[in-house]
Amino acid sequence: MSQVMISVRGLKRSFGKLEAVKDVSFDIQRGQVVGFIGANGAGKTTTMRMIATLETPDAGEVHICGEDAIDDPNAVRSKIGWVPDEFGRYQNMTIYEYLDFFARAFDYRDQERLNRIQEVMDFTGVTDLKDRFIDKLSKGQGQRVCLGRALLHDPEVLLMDEPAAGLDPKARMELKSLIRILAEEGKTIFISSHILSELSEICDTMIFLEQGQVLHHGGAEELKRGAKEGVCIKVKV
Ligand code: ATP
Repeated sequence: MSQVMISVRGLKRSFGKLEAVKDVSFDIQRGQVVGFIGANGAGKTTTMRMIATLETPDAGEVHICGEDAIDDPNAVRSKIGWVPDEFGRYQNMTIYEYLDFFARAFDYRDQERLNRIQEVMDFTGVTDLKDRFIDKLSKGQGQRVCLGRALLHDPEVLLMDEPAAGLDPKARMELKSLIRILAEEGKTIFISSHILSELSEICDTMIFLEQGQVLHHGGAEELKRGAKEGVCIKVKV
Protein backbone atom coordinates (compact mmCIF):
# COMPACT_ATOMS: atom_id res chain seq x y z
CA MET A 1 0.00 0.00 0.00
CA SER A 2 1.32 3.45 -0.87
CA GLN A 3 2.33 5.77 1.92
CA VAL A 4 2.87 9.51 1.66
CA MET A 5 6.38 10.25 2.94
CA ILE A 6 6.64 13.94 2.06
CA SER A 7 3.50 16.02 2.19
CA VAL A 8 3.70 19.74 1.46
CA ARG A 9 0.62 21.97 1.63
CA GLY A 10 0.33 25.65 0.79
CA LEU A 11 3.97 26.39 1.53
CA LYS A 12 4.98 30.07 1.38
CA ARG A 13 8.18 31.96 2.10
CA SER A 14 9.09 35.55 1.31
CA PHE A 15 12.32 37.46 1.76
CA GLY A 16 11.32 41.09 2.11
CA LYS A 17 9.11 41.80 -0.88
CA LEU A 18 10.35 38.78 -2.83
CA GLU A 19 7.89 35.86 -2.73
CA ALA A 20 10.43 33.06 -3.17
CA VAL A 21 7.89 30.27 -2.56
CA LYS A 22 4.33 31.31 -3.34
CA ASP A 23 1.99 28.39 -2.71
CA VAL A 24 3.57 25.00 -3.09
CA SER A 25 1.75 21.71 -2.49
CA PHE A 26 2.68 18.15 -3.41
CA ASP A 27 2.85 14.60 -2.06
CA ILE A 28 5.68 12.11 -2.55
CA GLN A 29 5.07 8.42 -1.91
CA ARG A 30 7.36 5.90 -0.25
CA GLY A 31 10.09 4.62 -2.56
CA GLN A 32 9.66 7.32 -5.20
CA VAL A 33 12.62 9.16 -6.69
CA VAL A 34 11.32 12.60 -7.53
CA GLY A 35 13.16 15.35 -9.36
CA PHE A 36 12.65 18.97 -8.36
CA ILE A 37 13.40 20.97 -11.46
CA GLY A 38 13.44 24.71 -11.96
CA ALA A 39 15.64 27.57 -13.13
CA ASN A 40 18.06 29.33 -10.79
CA GLY A 41 16.06 31.33 -8.28
CA ALA A 42 12.82 29.34 -8.81
CA GLY A 43 12.64 28.58 -5.08
CA LYS A 44 13.88 24.97 -4.99
CA THR A 45 16.45 25.39 -2.19
CA THR A 46 14.06 27.46 -0.09
CA THR A 47 11.36 24.77 -0.45
CA MET A 48 13.80 21.99 0.37
CA ARG A 49 15.16 23.86 3.37
CA MET A 50 11.61 24.24 4.70
CA ILE A 51 11.00 20.50 4.22
CA ALA A 52 14.29 19.80 6.02
CA THR A 53 13.19 22.08 8.93
CA LEU A 54 16.12 24.44 8.26
CA GLU A 55 13.83 27.31 7.33
CA THR A 56 10.44 28.23 8.81
CA PRO A 57 7.61 28.76 6.33
CA ASP A 58 5.50 31.92 6.47
CA ALA A 59 2.49 29.69 5.87
CA GLY A 60 1.69 26.09 5.01
CA GLU A 61 2.42 22.64 6.35
CA VAL A 62 5.06 19.97 5.90
CA HIS A 63 4.64 16.39 7.09
CA ILE A 64 7.37 13.77 6.81
CA CYS A 65 6.23 10.18 7.38
CA GLY A 66 3.20 11.73 9.05
CA GLU A 67 5.28 13.87 11.47
CA ASP A 68 4.62 17.60 11.51
CA ALA A 69 7.81 19.49 10.58
CA ILE A 70 6.70 22.67 12.31
CA ASP A 71 5.32 21.20 15.54
CA ASP A 72 7.91 18.48 15.91
CA PRO A 73 11.06 19.29 13.89
CA ASN A 74 13.19 16.80 15.82
CA ALA A 75 10.95 13.89 14.85
CA VAL A 76 11.22 15.00 11.24
CA ARG A 77 15.00 15.44 11.39
CA SER A 78 15.40 11.84 12.51
CA LYS A 79 13.61 10.68 9.35
CA ILE A 80 15.36 12.97 6.89
CA GLY A 81 18.85 12.91 5.41
CA TRP A 82 19.73 16.36 4.08
CA VAL A 83 22.42 16.50 1.40
CA PRO A 84 23.39 20.15 1.05
CA ASP A 85 25.13 21.52 -2.02
CA GLU A 86 28.18 22.52 0.04
CA PHE A 87 30.02 21.60 3.24
CA GLY A 88 29.71 24.88 5.10
CA ARG A 89 32.18 25.34 7.92
CA TYR A 90 33.74 21.89 8.22
CA GLN A 91 36.53 22.33 5.70
CA ASN A 92 39.40 21.78 8.13
CA MET A 93 38.36 18.24 9.12
CA THR A 94 39.31 14.96 7.54
CA ILE A 95 36.53 12.82 6.08
CA TYR A 96 36.69 10.54 9.09
CA GLU A 97 36.57 13.43 11.59
CA TYR A 98 33.65 14.94 9.71
CA LEU A 99 31.61 11.72 9.74
CA ASP A 100 32.58 11.03 13.34
CA PHE A 101 31.38 14.50 14.35
CA PHE A 102 27.93 13.84 12.86
CA ALA A 103 27.76 10.25 14.07
CA ARG A 104 28.28 11.56 17.62
CA ALA A 105 25.58 14.17 17.03
CA PHE A 106 23.24 11.29 16.11
CA ASP A 107 24.22 9.66 19.39
CA TYR A 108 25.95 6.62 17.97
CA ARG A 109 28.29 5.31 20.64
CA ASP A 110 31.45 3.21 20.84
CA GLN A 111 31.66 0.28 18.43
CA GLU A 112 28.25 1.04 16.91
CA ARG A 113 29.56 4.47 15.85
CA LEU A 114 32.73 3.02 14.33
CA ASN A 115 30.69 0.42 12.46
CA ARG A 116 28.23 2.93 11.11
CA ILE A 117 30.97 5.29 9.89
CA GLN A 118 32.69 2.36 8.17
CA GLU A 119 29.43 1.31 6.51
CA VAL A 120 28.75 4.71 5.02
CA MET A 121 32.39 5.17 3.95
CA ASP A 122 32.29 1.79 2.22
CA PHE A 123 28.94 2.49 0.59
CA THR A 124 30.02 5.89 -0.74
CA GLY A 125 33.49 4.62 -1.72
CA VAL A 126 35.57 7.00 0.41
CA THR A 127 37.24 4.56 2.84
CA ASP A 128 40.63 4.94 1.16
CA LEU A 129 40.33 8.71 1.47
CA LYS A 130 39.26 8.84 5.10
CA ASP A 131 42.31 10.83 6.30
CA ARG A 132 42.07 13.38 3.53
CA PHE A 133 41.02 16.90 4.49
CA ILE A 134 37.67 17.99 3.18
CA ASP A 135 39.11 21.06 1.47
CA LYS A 136 41.34 18.75 -0.60
CA LEU A 137 38.48 16.69 -2.05
CA SER A 138 37.24 16.84 -5.60
CA LYS A 139 33.65 17.94 -6.06
CA GLY A 140 32.55 14.33 -6.65
CA GLN A 141 34.37 13.00 -3.59
CA GLY A 142 32.89 15.82 -1.53
CA GLN A 143 29.40 15.05 -2.76
CA ARG A 144 29.81 11.39 -1.77
CA VAL A 145 30.95 12.42 1.71
CA CYS A 146 27.90 14.71 2.04
CA LEU A 147 25.72 11.77 1.02
CA GLY A 148 27.48 9.56 3.58
CA ARG A 149 26.85 12.10 6.29
CA ALA A 150 23.16 12.25 5.36
CA LEU A 151 22.92 8.45 5.54
CA LEU A 152 24.55 8.05 8.96
CA HIS A 153 21.24 7.76 10.84
CA ASP A 154 19.68 5.62 8.09
CA PRO A 155 16.89 8.08 7.22
CA GLU A 156 13.80 7.04 5.28
CA VAL A 157 13.76 10.22 3.19
CA LEU A 158 16.72 11.81 1.40
CA LEU A 159 16.66 15.43 0.28
CA MET A 160 19.43 16.30 -2.16
CA ASP A 161 19.99 19.89 -3.21
CA GLU A 162 21.65 20.07 -6.64
CA PRO A 163 23.85 17.02 -5.94
CA ALA A 164 25.10 16.76 -9.52
CA ALA A 165 26.05 20.43 -9.92
CA GLY A 166 29.65 20.82 -11.05
CA LEU A 167 30.34 17.07 -11.24
CA ASP A 168 32.25 15.59 -14.14
CA PRO A 169 30.49 12.77 -16.09
CA LYS A 170 32.25 9.99 -14.13
CA ALA A 171 31.36 11.49 -10.76
CA ARG A 172 27.78 12.00 -11.96
CA MET A 173 27.54 8.34 -12.95
CA GLU A 174 28.89 7.26 -9.56
CA LEU A 175 26.39 9.44 -7.76
CA LYS A 176 23.54 8.15 -9.89
CA SER A 177 24.39 4.54 -9.19
CA LEU A 178 24.41 5.26 -5.43
CA ILE A 179 21.01 6.95 -5.73
CA ARG A 180 19.68 3.92 -7.62
CA ILE A 181 20.87 1.53 -4.91
CA LEU A 182 19.26 3.68 -2.22
CA ALA A 183 16.00 3.79 -4.21
CA GLU A 184 16.05 0.01 -4.57
CA GLU A 185 16.42 -0.21 -0.78
CA GLY A 186 13.13 1.68 -0.57
CA LYS A 187 14.34 5.15 0.39
CA THR A 188 12.24 8.08 -0.76
CA ILE A 189 14.47 10.52 -2.62
CA PHE A 190 13.81 14.12 -3.58
CA ILE A 191 16.53 15.70 -5.76
CA SER A 192 16.78 19.22 -7.13
CA SER A 193 18.50 20.43 -10.26
CA HIS A 194 18.10 23.10 -12.90
CA ILE A 195 19.15 20.62 -15.60
CA LEU A 196 16.34 18.35 -16.74
CA SER A 197 18.53 15.65 -18.29
CA GLU A 198 20.38 15.21 -14.97
CA LEU A 199 17.14 14.24 -13.29
CA SER A 200 15.19 12.50 -16.02
CA GLU A 201 17.61 9.53 -16.07
CA ILE A 202 17.03 8.69 -12.41
CA CYS A 203 13.65 10.10 -11.43
CA ASP A 204 10.24 8.45 -11.86
CA THR A 205 8.45 11.72 -11.42
CA MET A 206 9.22 15.42 -11.76
CA ILE A 207 8.00 18.48 -9.98
CA PHE A 208 8.66 21.61 -12.02
CA LEU A 209 8.86 24.86 -10.09
CA GLU A 210 8.76 28.28 -11.66
CA GLN A 211 8.83 31.51 -9.68
CA GLY A 212 7.82 29.75 -6.50
CA GLN A 213 4.92 27.77 -7.99
CA VAL A 214 4.50 24.18 -9.15
CA LEU A 215 3.71 24.13 -12.88
CA HIS A 216 3.99 20.38 -13.44
CA HIS A 217 3.91 17.27 -11.26
CA GLY A 218 4.08 14.09 -13.27
CA GLY A 219 6.18 11.99 -15.59
CA ALA A 220 9.64 13.04 -16.73
CA GLU A 221 8.86 12.31 -20.38
CA GLU A 222 5.87 14.60 -20.40
CA LEU A 223 7.98 17.42 -18.95
CA LYS A 224 10.80 16.79 -21.42
CA ARG A 225 8.33 17.02 -24.30
CA GLY A 226 7.02 20.26 -22.85
CA ALA A 227 10.56 21.64 -22.58
CA LYS A 228 11.26 20.81 -26.22
CA GLU A 229 8.04 22.52 -27.22
CA GLY A 230 9.17 25.59 -25.30
CA VAL A 231 6.75 25.26 -22.40
CA CYS A 232 9.48 25.09 -19.79
CA ILE A 233 11.72 27.51 -21.61
CA LYS A 234 13.84 28.47 -18.64
CA VAL A 235 14.95 24.92 -17.92
CA LYS A 236 18.12 23.79 -19.68
CA VAL A 237 17.64 20.41 -21.37
P1 ATP B 1 19.35 28.02 -7.33
O1 ATP B 1 19.28 26.87 -8.27
O2 ATP B 1 20.04 29.21 -7.93
O3 ATP B 1 19.85 27.69 -5.96
P2 ATP B 1 16.67 27.94 -6.33
O4 ATP B 1 15.60 27.49 -7.23
O5 ATP B 1 17.20 26.97 -5.35
O6 ATP B 1 17.85 28.54 -7.18
P3 ATP B 1 16.29 29.64 -4.06
O7 ATP B 1 17.73 29.53 -3.64
O8 ATP B 1 15.26 28.98 -3.25
O9 ATP B 1 16.11 29.22 -5.57
O10 ATP B 1 15.96 31.20 -4.13
C1 ATP B 1 14.67 31.70 -4.53
C2 ATP B 1 14.74 33.20 -4.45
O11 ATP B 1 14.82 33.60 -3.08
C3 ATP B 1 15.95 33.80 -5.14
O12 ATP B 1 15.56 35.01 -5.77
C4 ATP B 1 16.92 34.06 -4.01
O13 ATP B 1 17.77 35.15 -4.31
C5 ATP B 1 15.97 34.38 -2.87
N1 ATP B 1 16.51 34.03 -1.56
C6 ATP B 1 16.80 32.77 -1.15
N2 ATP B 1 17.26 32.79 0.12
C7 ATP B 1 17.27 34.10 0.51
C8 ATP B 1 17.64 34.78 1.71
N3 ATP B 1 18.09 34.11 2.77
N4 ATP B 1 17.53 36.11 1.73
C9 ATP B 1 17.05 36.80 0.67
N5 ATP B 1 16.68 36.22 -0.50
C10 ATP B 1 16.79 34.89 -0.58
